[in-house]
Parts: sequence; structure tokens; C-alpha cells
Amino acid sequence: MKSKLFQYVRAESTQEVVSLLGELGEDAQILAGGQSLVPAMALRMASPEILIDISSIEELQSIELVDGLLKIGAGCLYADILESALVVKSAPLLTQAIPFIAHEAIRNRGTIGGSLALADPAAELPACMLALDSVIVLKSHEGTRKVPAPEFFLGTYFTAILDTEMIVAVEIPTISKNQCHGFLEISRRSGDYAIAGGAFVVELEAERVISAQMAYFSVGDRPVLAPEAALLLTGSELSDEVIRKVGAHAAEEIEFLADLYNGVSTKKQITKTLTRRLLTQISKKVT
Ligand SMILES: Cc1cc2nc3c(=O)[nH]c(=O)nc-3n(C[C@H](O)[C@H](O)[C@H](O)COP(=O)(O)OP(=O)(O)OC[C@H]3O[C@@H](n4cnc5c(N)ncnc54)[C@H](O)[C@@H]3O)c2cc1C
Repeated sequence: MKSKLFQYVRAESTQEVVSLLGELGEDAQILAGGQSLVPAMALRMASPEILIDISSIEELQSIELVDGLLKIGAGCLYADILESALVVKSAPLLTQAIPFIAHEAIRNRGTIGGSLALADPAAELPACMLALDSVIVLKSHEGTRKVPAPEFFLGTYFTAILDTEMIVAVEIPTISKNQCHGFLEISRRSGDYAIAGGAFVVELEAERVISAQMAYFSVGDRPVLAPEAALLLTGSELSDEVIRKVGAHAAEEIEFLADLYNGVSTKKQITKTLTRRLLTQISKKVT
């Protein structure tokens, strides 16, 4: 099948994009890396009248520290983020997560903004945004607003973005001296979407956990945190017994949804196992 006829605009600035979105609303759709939108158009699951290509907008392609936050432009490719020394230093969770996304060809075209806007519950970066306490920066013809990650992901392929808005950047608190980042997913084959995955940020002092953000993906209709399991971890050392308990608790706390290939019990068991593996990995980094 081929896509319906559409008009194409190559935008040169975010101002041009938001003016067009303000005028056209839902008739227009942003094209970033095209890795999801183009196949969806070919299958006629998406039929925008006008495509606004944002891939040459330079202001969307920077990775920088701004007021102590790591700011990544929405147009940054997975491959650019993976290669950024600043990301390795400031948010190593992303450097750990990106190699798990699809295959190299897709990582060379797909963008962080596209991944967050798509809000696939099986995607890696939305869960990283939750674990990292990130904020998504949205722009419209009326101005900008910042949405914390937990308020941004509202369901399967459903976010807080309005028809007149675009993502321009994400702002991520940089890793602190006592924090450890850990990422793991379990899939059938390398490059496949995960059966379940986790992105953790754990803060320790004298080997005791003082705070934890445990985010999971491919478990429900959106990426989720496990705040009760994180609370159970807080104040404890990462002993085998604590790790086992926290893994079991996370698997009970999450409201799992089956996907096309994996049932709830599989996802639950995998969540328990990957939580244990991730916390064990983190415990080895601190000892
Ligand atoms: C074979 C295959 C395997 C894949 N495996 C994985 C995987 O393992 N993990 C994973 O996370 N993803 C995977 N993907 C999806 C891929 O990462 C997505 O294409 C990507 O997340 C979307 O990014 P994009 O830049 O290509 O966006 P596009 O396809 O251009 O756009 C996707 C959607 O986001 C909107 N959009 C894009 N940018 C913005 C913006 N700045 N503001 C507002 N809306 C915007 C578009 O209008 C569209 O609705 C896979 C894709 C393929 C084809």
C-alpha cells in the first residue's frame, strides 16, 4: 500500500513549525526521523494532509549543559546521543539504553523527540525520562511549557502534546556523585522490542540507598515507576535479601498488560528477574 497524497514542508526554524501547527492543527504532522511515521503512512494508519519536516532545524540538534541541566534537542538522533561525551558524563543511563533500541540503521535516523512523541509503551527512552526525573519542553505559537515526564506519558501512543505543540527539547538533571544509573531489557533477539525492561537511578551514601527511581517499560500501556519498591529499597544496603524482596515487590506493584506475544505472567517474572539483575549490577559498582 502507498500513503495518501500529502503536501511537504521543510521547516527551517521551530517558529515556522509552530506557526504552521497553529494554523493547521491536526491536519499537519511533524516528520522527524520518519522511522515510525513513514511506515504508518504507508499502511494508512496515519494520513496527514501536510508533513512538516523538522530534520534540518539546527536549533533542535544541540546537546548542552544549561543551568546545570543536560538539555537535548528534540531533533538529536539516537546515534548522536550515543556518541556524546557530555551524555556519558551527565546522563550515562541514555548511553546504556540506546544500544538496545532497534538496529543501527534506525538509530542513525530516529530522534529522541520522535521517540517521546510516539510514546510507544515498549520504547526505551520514555522510561529513561521517568527514571531521570526529566522535563519535556513543548513549544506552540503561544509560547513554551515544560511537562514533567510522569505527566507527559498518558497511555499507549498518547501524550500531553497538543495538536498545536511540538517537543523542542528535554531537560535532564545531571548525575550526582553518589548516583548510579542502570539499564537492562530482556528481549527474544537483539534489536527486538523488549518483553520487559528497566531504567534505574539509585542514590547511595555509605552503601545505603538514600533514594531510587525505578522505571519500567513494555509492562503496561505506558512507562511506569515502581514507587513502593523504591521506598522499600530506601534506607537499606543492597544485600541479596533486599534485592530479592524489592524485585518481588516491583513485580507485584506494577499493573501489567499483555502484549501480542507475551502474557502478564511472563512480563511479571521477567520484571522480577531484571530488577534483581539491575540492582545486583548497581551493588557491584558501589562495592
Ligand atoms: C524495525 C523497527 C524497530 C524499532 N525498534 C524500536 C525499539 O526497539 N525501541 C524503540 O524505542 N523504538 C523502536 N523503533 C521505533 C523508532 O525508534 C521510532 O521511529 C522512533 O521512536 C520515532 O522517531 P522518529 O524520529 O523516527 O520519529 P517519526 O517517525 O518521524 O515520528 C514519530 C511520531 O512523533 C511525532 N514527532 C516527531 N518528532 C516530534 C516533535 N519534535 N514534536 C512533536 N511530535 C513529534 C511525529 O509527528 C510522529 O507522530 C523501531 C522502529 C522500526 C522501524
